[in-house]
Amino acid sequence: MQRRNFLKNSSVAAAGLISTPLMASCKNNTELNSKAVDTTEPIIPVTICTWNFKNATAKAWEVLESGGSSLNAVQQGAMIEEADVNNQTVGIGGRPDREGNVTLDACIMDKDGNCGAVLCMQNIASPVSVARKVMEDTPHVMLAGKGAEKFAYEKGFEKTNLLTEQSRKEWVEWKKTSEYKPIINIENHDTIGILAIDKNGDIAGACTTSGMGYKYAGRVGDSPIIGAGLFVDNEIGAATATGVGEEVVRTVGSFLIVELMRQGKSPQEACEEGVKRIMAKNKDRTDFQIGFIAVNKKGETGAYCIQPGFTYRSYSNDGHMNNPVDSFLKA
Ligand code: ASP
Repeated sequence: MQRRNFLKNSSVAAAGLISTPLMASCKNNTELNSKAVDTTEPIIPVTICTWNFKNATAKAWEVLESGGSSLNAVQQGAMIEEADVNNQTVGIGGRPDREGNVTLDACIMDKDGNCGAVLCMQNIASPVSVARKVMEDTPHVMLAGKGAEKFAYEKGFEKTNLLTEQSRKEWVEWKKTSEYKPIINIENHDTIGILAIDKNGDIAGACTTSGMGYKYAGRVGDSPIIGAGLFVDNEIGAATATGVGEEVVRTVGSFLIVELMRQGKSPQEACEEGVKRIMAKNKDRTDFQIGFIAVNKKGETGAYCIQPGFTYRSYSNDGHMNNPVDSFLKA
């Protein structure tokens, strides 16, 4: 979606004497163009995330711009949403399961294919940070439940009450009917999946969520599952998902999208194919949402979803924006 032409080795450009749009418009000027335009120049650094989590991409961009790694960028971006008590789908303030417990899922993956995840973890405010510790300080990829929580305490994370008054009140209200009916795009599908490419061209991703509101105790969706909610291949690109995790797990959605990019599809084409595969298995269902976002090694981005309403944030040298996403089903 974002594609810019860059001037390379141009003394005029290097001296900062012409602006980027002007540089782009100069591409047919033979004097400049003969040796200067390189249309395959990567678009980096860049960060994108599911939904309109602008504080997350702003934080990630700050890290990338100052020369930080994509791994630090995605972790710090995700942490912003985990710490936001008003976000009822991630971290503190997340909606509880049907028994009133907030259980969090997260994962992180780096440029070397290292990854870590925590599943169904309670009382810890930043699951993405614990996931990174699992990746870096243990021989494992996933820790779940009490084991994950114990590991977090060992690593110095503090015990935190994750159930805010707002989420508790809504849960008490919900219990009156105990009817589980996800409302598309609003009630509980707002996981943050965040991807970044740093100035070295290295890719990383993270995904963090409180999962579906009022889920069965112990339920885990796609978000902490490497390959489903998130996948990074530093040679190719990365993808992440939001929405009904069960369907993403069934198609190993993020891995599928990266593999489609490996076969030559653009991030946009790969996300579209990922959604189509899910819809092919759910021909009669129109009541659920899934959104995929992806970035390739060049920094080109794409996204696609089932229902209208999904957007994704991007931050690159092109600016900081909320991007509309085309959908399989139309309004
Ligand atoms: N994908 C998440 C899950 O299934 C939910 C979401 O995106 O809101 O747990």
